[in-house]
Amino acid sequence: MFTKILIANRGEIACRVAATARRMGIKTVAVFSEADAGARHVALCDEAVLIGPAPARESYLCGDRIIEAALAAGAQAIHPGYGFLSENEGFASACAEAGLVFIGPPPPAIRAMGSKSAAKSLMEQAGVPLVPGYHGDNQDPDFLREQADRIGYPVLLKASAGGGGKGMRIVEHSADFTAALASCKREAISSFGDDAVLVEKYLLRPRHIEIQVFADNHGDCVYLFERDCSVQRRHQKVLEEAPAPGMTELRRKAMGEAAVAAARAVGYAGAGTVEFIAQSDGSFYFMEMNTRLQVEHPVTEMITGTDLVEWQLRVAYGERLPKAQQDLAISGHAIEARIYAENPEKGFLPSTGTLRHLRTPDAGMFSIATASDGVRIDSGVREGDAISPFYDPMIAKLIVWGRDRAEALSRMSQALSRYQIVGLANNIAFLKRLVESEAFAGADLDTGLIERNHTALFPVLAPASMQTLALATAALLDEESGGAGGAANPWAATTGWRMNGRLQRQLEFAEEEHLHAVTVEYRGNDWLLRQGAESCAMTIVGRGAQDMLIKLGGVAVRGAVVRDGDAFHVFAGGTHAVLTYADPMAHAGEAEADSGRLTAPMPGKIVAVLVSQGDSVAKSTPLLIMEAMKMEHTIAAPANGVVEAILYAVGDQVAEGAQLLSFKPV
Ligand code: ADP
Ligand code: ADP
Ligand code: MG
Repeated sequence: MFTKILIANRGEIACRVAATARRMGIKTVAVFSEADAGARHVALCDEAVLIGPAPARESYLCGDRIIEAALAAGAQAIHPGYGFLSENEGFASACAEAGLVFIGPPPPAIRAMGSKSAAKSLMEQAGVPLVPGYHGDNQDPDFLREQADRIGYPVLLKASAGGGGKGMRIVEHSADFTAALASCKREAISSFGDDAVLVEKYLLRPRHIEIQVFADNHGDCVYLFERDCSVQRRHQKVLEEAPAPGMTELRRKAMGEAAVAAARAVGYAGAGTVEFIAQSDGSFYFMEMNTRLQVEHPVTEMITGTDLVEWQLRVAYGERLPKAQQDLAISGHAIEARIYAENPEKGFLPSTGTLRHLRTPDAGMFSIATASDGVRIDSGVREGDAISPFYDPMIAKLIVWGRDRAEALSRMSQALSRYQIVGLANNIAFLKRLVESEAFAGADLDTGLIERNHTALFPVLAPASMQTLALATAALLDEESGGAGGAANPWAATTGWRMNGRLQRQLEFAEEEHLHAVTVEYRGNDWLLRQGAESCAMTIVGRGAQDMLIKLGGVAVRGAVVRDGDAFHVFAGGTHAVLTYADPMAHAGEAEADSGRLTAPMPGKIVAVLVSQGDSVAKSTPLLIMEAMKMEHTIAAPANGVVEAILYAVGDQVAEGAQLLSFKPV
């Protein structure tokens, strides 16, 4: 077997490959861009080589630099992961010329499947069924419109060189054809450098069903069954599962054999996926072949008990396939959810930011063998890492396995309930609604599922419950009294103690368009919380690193509260509420009051320093003002005390979390 390989990718797939290599005793070399110097994949590999600046074009897409790094490190092979150079015929050939094994199919197979049009012609000859359409060389607009008229509307225009859901246009009427063609060609040339398009019948309510194939260099080729990837947004996958609900043995065999025929037709070797579009009557048509490992390969691993990266390494080394067709079987059901840094409510726009807080459910990492209770997470990031604008917005893949679909579904919704992310917009709450929706739970699958169920999937946000508000309030009171459950003894909660009676305090939390006013009455042994007509006695039972336990009106309420600046993120009962505390004075520092460190709640610039070293100030006195993203934040004294040192001056740029002042409470 290889003794050292280079992994020409980043993120979760680079980590995934590194995990298998380590298990097989193979040394790994990571490559990284300047943006990824501290990335997880760099930490997981034995060696790492810097290959260029952040933009992929200057780093992860520089094949020559990557080959140079592999040679210098003494690697024998290169695993390209997916994306980047994985389907680049030139790169695969260059590896071979440099004496390196490209862990993927032979270059001619990549070329044959690289153009959707040429691939369709080939598949036609191999007897694989195709969606009615035109995929020839004639690109004359009038000719293409005639083809569309003949096929019948709606039709789909696709960039031949396209991928990742880009370069597609649905055309409903002949009159719209010419304009749609021009716009499709513009996108195709700018995204893929090639404006050739094909036209096909746009199927209504189809399912995306793909077959995992594997071939070796000894003439064997098998299929590892299907994955249903019908749940998509913008023609891109969100949920994937295996096996496909409702698949019959007969149809599975027919699709599997068609996929093997497709792979054989191009002299395939290694892992590949043949994508089909399927109709409810059982008919299925070839769409394209992805000549690489697929993002959703883990669901296949979970139901077949195989490690597909290990298979890739063995095949690339020249070994025979580890299993023959008759030795492969499906066990149970697996579902994958892609956790993206994106905003489902805003048209699934990608977002960026730092993973300020990250808690995941108990899970195995990267491999079926270590999956804990059927839950697996493939991820390339840790708490503190950033999702930058340079690369894919995928944060992680959450994969579950169950004895049947119902068990997998319940594990998925449980696991999503336990997934906590603070710091950037993400689709976790959306995924939870999606897997729990009637349509998905009932396996009423087709590619329009998300759009069709828009109302159910995007319900009007219910305002935070009293329990949620109480958790945020408890966290705030706890912090003010020194933190870590210190407020369990309300006598220690100095803030509210008055000799001459009970203090009442009004707290305001903003949540989207709602404003919640909570009145807190400090009593001897507990607090009385009032919101509108509701009122409840509250005590803090305990606060650990992970969660907080309170008693509200005698009922135990548990949840995690994560403070991020003025925002209190409350994770309880499988929901995530963001409550922004409207503190009229202080904007940071409460948590640090005891240690005397006042830190920057965000990266930004110091615009004013309002005190001098040695000043004695009263609690809540503004000390310093910062500016970021056109907003001003005031850092105020957390208690009565003395300013011991001021660590920055006006005009200084400070990092998030940097200590700004040292402060001594008196
Ligand atoms: P397809 O829809 O063709 O099966 P996928 O959904 O598997 O493709 O992935 C979408 C595209 O994004 C692919 O071209 C894939 O290679 C790329 N991609 C996905 N994740 C990553 C990643 N972490 N790094 C680089 N490229 C990625
Ligand atoms: P990509 O290379 O971007 O993955 P594909 O050809 O695989 O492009 O198509 C991506 C998605 O677009 C499919 O999964 C499916 O949802 C939709 N799609 C593709 N072809 C058709 C078609 N003929 N009719 C209806 N939907 C289609
Ligand atoms: Mg595709």
